Amino acid sequence: MPSFDFRQWARRAADWAVDYLATVRERPVRAQTAPGAIHQAIPAEPPLQGEPMEAIFADLDRTILPGMTHWQHPRFFAYFPANSSPPAVVAEFVTAAMAAQCMLWQTSPAATELEARMMEWLRGMIGLPPSFAGVIQDSATSATFAAVLTARERALSYMSNTAGLFGATPLRAYCSAEAHSSVDKAIRMAGIGHQNLVKLPSAGPLCSLDVAALDEQIREDKAAGMTPFLIVACLGGTSVGAVDDIARVADVARRHGIFLHVDAAWAGSAMICPEFRHLMRGAEAADSFVFNPHKWLFTNFDCSAHFVKDPKALTYTLGLRPAYLRTLGLGDNEIAGVTDYNEWSVPLGRRFRALKLWFVIRYYGVEALRAKIRDHVAWARELAGLFDADPDFELTSTPVLALFSFRYRPHGFAGDDAALDRLNTDLIEAINADGRIYLTQTRHQNRFVIRVQVGQTDTTRADVLMVLEVARELAARIGREG
Ligand SMILES: *Cc1c(COP(=O)(O)O)cnc(C)c1O
Repeated sequence: MPSFDFRQWARRAADWAVDYLATVRERPVRAQTAPGAIHQAIPAEPPLQGEPMEAIFADLDRTILPGMTHWQHPRFFAYFPANSSPPAVVAEFVTAAMAAQCMLWQTSPAATELEARMMEWLRGMIGLPPSFAGVIQDSATSATFAAVLTARERALSYMSNTAGLFGATPLRAYCSAEAHSSVDKAIRMAGIGHQNLVKLPSAGPLCSLDVAALDEQIREDKAAGMTPFLIVACLGGTSVGAVDDIARVADVARRHGIFLHVDAAWAGSAMICPEFRHLMRGAEAADSFVFNPHKWLFTNFDCSAHFVKDPKALTYTLGLRPAYLRTLGLGDNEIAGVTDYNEWSVPLGRRFRALKLWFVIRYYGVEALRAKIRDHVAWARELAGLFDADPDFELTSTPVLALFSFRYRPHGFAGDDAALDRLNTDLIEAINADGRIYLTQTRHQNRFVIRVQVGQTDTTRADVLMVLEVARELAARIGREG
């Protein structure tokens, strides 16, 4: 593409992005598309000759946009947020233009050194001590996988990479049933075997891991000749925001010499507000900690902040230095003070992810980022209070930061839990087909419940309060039809 055309289309894309975000609130939040419709609308064969950009842009609006679920919609209250912001988008454009591979220091010194500095900024922002070093991973799943592999190596004296797991006594990992499925996946991928991931009960208002049961289980497993090697603690579970007592869990980990990983993928961003940090009490004693700025810190996917106490343990586990990846002229990396971040992560190739963090943190400043998260938490609590006070709804879990769950239970309803599950399944379907708001469900204490999380960059208090309005309206309609 000649540079004159590139300039024109880059400007067109910028205009498109600004218009899209300015009008996204007029669209239904969840795509209202039937399965297969978009696939059908795309030609089965690629064009042999190039097509005009004008035609491609027209199809973007005609074919693709109606099939999108709008994650930046101010009334997206489903799953967890994957929020973004204009400075992050601008940085991504610049990043895409440079399209650098940031695997070695030499392949982009600025990317490596900015990444190191951004991780120091984030570490300070969430109140982790300088004893942690950080790396940006593509996802929390990758960070947790890296943690599991590191813990495995450490427990087996760094021999399993060489000798494999053949003949080793079973390794055992522990978490509560509230832990994310990425832990299960990491355990599978690491060759530990799913049956060696022990899911312990959780209890109390924050669904916290039962620490006494944890200690008991570890003792039993040791007595049975197994090797406990890893505990994963939740700081903001995905279902209803479970928070473990990390200080007490860390105490057990320390007494038994077990690696402790903290999964704060969603809630970690809120730790930039000192008043929420009581939830992470004890995290300074963990071996690793992950949170996703790509969830709730206005930095678009992918950007997962992974902090480790002992970077050497991680690089012993994941680092390889074949001849074609050596940097000549520097001598020893460690002596030259050079970091090759590919040794800290599973993939070799790495995007320049630090740039968008730099743009976001500098553009807003920490105080404005805190203010946004405080608003989200305050509005979620206000909404939860309104659901709690409504005789036709009930809160089904304790609100945690900006997440709560509820279910429809019409005043005087005489049916059982199964009938309520059906009613709420119908309600959430009706809500999401309506399109004004988007919510998702989970199962909690064996009930079907509806989750609400508030974390959108451009959401307002009025947007948040609309959840109750829509829920009431559609619940009444279901009541009439049902
Ligand atoms: C979202 C989430 C994950 C997975 O995050 P990815 O970055 O998509 O891999 C892991 N743990 C928790 C608690 C989450 O909420």
